Amino acid sequence: RTRSSAELIRAEEPVLAHNYHPLPVVVARAEGTWVQDVEGRRYLDMLAGYSALNFGHRHPALIEAAHRQLDRLTLTSRAFHNDRLAEFAERLAALIGLDMVLPMNTGAEAVESAVKVARKWAYDVRGVPADRATIVVAADNFHGRTTTIVSFSTDEVARSGFGPFTPGFRIVPYNDLAAMEAAIDDTTAAVLIEPIQGEAGVIVPDDGYLAGVRELTSRKGCLFIADEIQSGLGRTGRTLAVEHESVMPDVVLLGKALGGGIVPVSAVVARREVLQVLHPGEHGSTFGGNPLAAAVGSAVVDLLETGEFQRRAAELGVVLRGGLQSLVGRGVVGFRARGLWAGVDIDPELGTGRDISERLMREGILVKDTHGSTIRLAPPLTITADELQGALQTLEKVLVQG
Ligand code: PLP
Repeated sequence: RTRSSAELIRAEEPVLAHNYHPLPVVVARAEGTWVQDVEGRRYLDMLAGYSALNFGHRHPALIEAAHRQLDRLTLTSRAFHNDRLAEFAERLAALIGLDMVLPMNTGAEAVESAVKVARKWAYDVRGVPADRATIVVAADNFHGRTTTIVSFSTDEVARSGFGPFTPGFRIVPYNDLAAMEAAIDDTTAAVLIEPIQGEAGVIVPDDGYLAGVRELTSRKGCLFIADEIQSGLGRTGRTLAVEHESVMPDVVLLGKALGGGIVPVSAVVARREVLQVLHPGEHGSTFGGNPLAAAVGSAVVDLLETGEFQRRAAELGVVLRGGLQSLVGRGVVGFRARGLWAGVDIDPELGTGRDISERLMREGILVKDTHGSTIRLAPPLTITADELQGALQTLEKVLVQG
């Protein structure tokens, strides 16, 4: 007998760590922009796995690439070469416009790897005295959950109870070039920022900020690391969010959609001068660069090379922005959007972000709150204009009619 949604939710409670508070929906199947729960109810997915599902659920080209690879070779470890990795690295480096790739698995691992690479670069290339390297980061950042990464978080819930913390980070306000300049000195290995702060509520910096970070880091002789794990790979209407200011960082971090919603795939993509500081034995991962990941990652690069997804995100982003604009003053107090990505601040009188998410769920739309009364919209880039309009109408219904 298959268990009901309610039974499955109850069954998790005693056996699953309580580090999440999911909406009460139990997904059993999915295709494209739609998911289905255990009872067969359909929902439009307006979260897309925090942008891991930019190409929708089970995109046919990605599923086919995975199936083909499953039938041949899945894992070698990096003790041996595999016949898929060279192509993945060549094509990903070319797509991004940088030289070399360090393949990892999760987003947090890519960030951790970049922290290590930046420190090594500071000692080997910049000549910072041993163990003195610093990295400048932004307040309200979200880069992942490891002990080092939460060491430079400003979210007390993410940090509290997890010390002692890793030293060597300086936190400055986001979108503040003067503060960033003041924090950079001879020990600075890198500036690490999100080009758009996702978890903070889709915070889009002022025009000129990213170009300013590029100018500042070049002038001061440190690295610019862009965490594009959530903002990258089509979401904002470009392959990378930094392209909106025609900026090329020294290091780009990718994850989430790089695995096509099938396998965890992340990467540090960088200039040769940076990634060549790593030598055998200094860093690694059993699963990083495995042939299944490389095959799916190459198929993701195929999709992005067509430009279709970036174009859809840019075009449908206009629809999203227009729909949200019409709700300002009618339940929405403000919003920030770029491409198919929006942080929407709901009038707190109408409920918390969680309340609104649950009401949308009952209307067949899946979203997730971020902080307080903010919800985030980030549908698969395969969503149709009609589906998007439908979602906006449902949001209007929930906000205006209660
Ligand atoms: N960096 C950014 C910008 C993210 O949004 C996230 C996840 O939300 C991460 C890093 C961490 O990725 P993961 O959950 O795969 O470790």
